[in-house]
Formats: sequence, structure tokens, C-alpha cells
Amino acid sequence: MQEEAFPLGPLAALGAEALGQPGQRTFRIRAQTEEVGATLWLEKEQLQALAVAIEQLLIQIPRPLEGEQTPSMNVFREPPAIEFKVGRLALGYVEESDLVALLVHSVDADPEGPATLVCLASRPQCRGLSRQIIEVCAAGRPRCPLCSDPINPEGHHCVRLN
Ligand SMILES: [Zn+2]
Repeated sequence: MQEEAFPLGPLAALGAEALGQPGQRTFRIRAQTEEVGATLWLEKEQLQALAVAIEQLLIQIPRPLEGEQTPSMNVFREPPAIEFKVGRLALGYVEESDLVALLVHSVDADPEGPATLVCLASRPQCRGLSRQIIEVCAAGRPRCPLCSDPINPEGHHCVRLN
């Protein structure tokens, strides 16, 4: 078993994106230092929960937060040196360095044990990530103009049309 988290940070870039067709999209976080890139696969619900957790953390920090930092996704190197599916995710604020630690457990790791990966991100990077998550999650399936439910590629049974 892994004894210590792989530390990654401070990050040069941090972003979220969706791949695949609407309705069947997969979601991932990309984290990149000057040397190492990581790709963290997760469910849409985990991603949305992360955006909420980031915002809850940021509003608790009594320091001014200027701007947000959203990367263009082509800064991330392929293939990533680290890649895994995310189980548990936690956030912590490191006051001395004014950085946010993302503690990421792989699905295979003991959720009570050490994190698989620890990323250190600036607050503008975290704000940028949460904004990007909201955009990525909203830019999913097209909505039905009648009932505003999402339309799947295989079709839509509209409640308004019975
Ligand atoms: Zn409809």
C-alpha cells in the first residue's frame, strides 16, 4: 500500500473538462506543474460537489481574492504522468503559503488513509476551476424547449407532449 501522498504543486494550471457525446460524457480534472501533469477522472456529481466545496472554502478565507485563473486546456501535457479515477476528495487551506490543498484519493485507495495525490493551487486557480466546472456541467445535453428537461441522443419523451 501507498504510504505517502504524491505531492503536486504549486500548480501551473488547473482545469476541468468533459469528453464525449452529450448524455455520455466523462469528466476529468487536469492539474499541471512545470514538470508533471495529472488527469483525475471523476463523476459529474463529484465535480459539482467539488465546485461547491471550493466556493465554501474561498468565502471563509478573510483575504481579498482578486480574479480567477482559468487555463486553456491545451496547456496540459499528454500523456499525463499521473492518471486515476477519483474516490474521495477533500480541500484544505494552507494559510502560510495562501494555497489550497486538494487531497485526492483514488477509488482504490483507503478513504481513511493518506491521499493518493495532493495538489497545491492558488485561490484564483480554485475560483477559476469552480467557474469552469459550472460551465462544463451546464454545457451538457441540449434542453427541451417545452419542458426544459435534457434531451438524450437516443431521444426525448416530453412530459408536456404526454
Ligand atoms: Zn420536453
